[in-house]
Amino acid sequence: MRVIVSLLALLLIGTQVQAAAQTETSDEVAQMCKKISDRLASVSYKECSNIQFYQPRFYSASNQPILEAHYAAKPGVKNPVRILFIGGIHGDELSSVSVTFKWLNTLNQHHSGSFDWHFLPLANPDGLLRRPATRVNANNVDLNRNFIPAAAKLTPLEYWQQEASKRKRYYPGEKPLSEPESKVIHTLIDEYKPTVIVSVHAPHGILDFDGDKQPPEKLGPLYLRHLGTYPGSLGNYGWYVKNVPVMTIELPYAGIMPSAGDISRMWVDLVRWVRVKAQPESQVADGTDEKGAVSVHSGK
Ligand SMILES: [Zn+2]
Repeated sequence: MRVIVSLLALLLIGTQVQAAAQTETSDEVAQMCKKISDRLASVSYKECSNIQFYQPRFYSASNQPILEAHYAAKPGVKNPVRILFIGGIHGDELSSVSVTFKWLNTLNQHHSGSFDWHFLPLANPDGLLRRPATRVNANNVDLNRNFIPAAAKLTPLEYWQQEASKRKRYYPGEKPLSEPESKVIHTLIDEYKPTVIVSVHAPHGILDFDGDKQPPEKLGPLYLRHLGTYPGSLGNYGWYVKNVPVMTIELPYAGIMPSAGDISRMWVDLVRWVRVKAQPESQVADGTDEKGAVSVHSGK
């Protein structure tokens, strides 16, 4: 009898531990959603907490969770396009985080399963949550200069010293991947093996593309213009080191949101491009995709 009671007690304790772990997880995501919605007028707590984020696996330099959400392709879609989508690698480009949340909510409502998406809506939480927000992370490193560079005469650090006038905003760190946030992206590229990486920035108001696929001519109001890459940037690393095409979306303003119409048009153009041009060889997506659903949504 005593054994049975002990077993029952153990089972009960087990259940309690499990319940506590789940509560803790959702608390951690909920706290992050609270911080983000307090910081960004354009992202409500509801918009953030609507998303089924992973239990946090990765943390920033100052121990903030780096949120991840995944929308899998349907099991019937063979070799789907996989899109790694990154917002807010620069913490002071607030619109890049807000617009990424808008698109994430669109996908959350209309995901058809034609493609596979992995979202990091805020890659640099420390930069965004600082007052004032900063481009760099908590270690004052520009994450978009902290990746492994393609072969070049100058290392990212030498380039910064000799060509970038040692401007603090562009400090690449002592060595590539010194920062937890850039390591996360590096790890995801290796684990997730994206077909294409989409990274959202501001305020150049253009679309840039590094890769062998035919880029879109425009996304909504943004037209294609090649800016080139810097040693240690994600575009440089993604395409020239890892051979994964990188689309860089540069919104027109860091602190002003595009119109709802433009946010919708950019998404429609992006999904159309994914459907037509980003497919792996001999792959045609079946059924409807996110574009059709969004077209209806965007009419409002
Ligand atoms: Zn940027």
